[in-house]
Amino acid sequence: MPEQRLRQAIDTLKQSGVRITPQRHAVLEYLMKSMTHPTADEIYKALEGKFPNMSVATVYNNLRVLREAGLVRELTYGDASSRFDCNTTDHYHIICNECGKIVDFHYPKLDEVESLAEQVTGFDVSHHRLEVYGTCEECQQTEQH
Ligand SMILES: [Zn+2]
Ligand SMILES: [Zn+2]
Repeated sequence: MPEQRLRQAIDTLKQSGVRITPQRHAVLEYLMKSMTHPTADEIYKALEGKFPNMSVATVYNNLRVLREAGLVRELTYGDASSRFDCNTTDHYHIICNECGKIVDFHYPKLDEVESLAEQVTGFDVSHHRLEVYGTCEECQQTEQH
């Protein structure tokens, strides 16, 4: 499944005239396979062994290209560094207070909140964002020991 999604993503890039450099390919592949919502720094650390000449700036640049092509979403959290998500379908995030891990979940019922908000406020709603916080299973276990 990730292989197929990767191939589709590469096709999308080609169609929008984006050059597929080996580094760009590697960044995309890492995002598709990790599913962990990494920061640019984490991507850089994971790939620097493979591309010794690559800089963090290159990673940022590649992420920007992928974001503009609609393949990657940037998640911003105040002043903390952005995280990147290659799951561009509608979904929500639950975030661990202890280790910062982000896990996807779906709750389609909440789509109604957009039409409700529109009716109540007269806004033209573009999107909504919801984050749930807690302690992940792994961190719960380490707390008990
Ligand atoms: Zn945790
Ligand atoms: Zn996500």
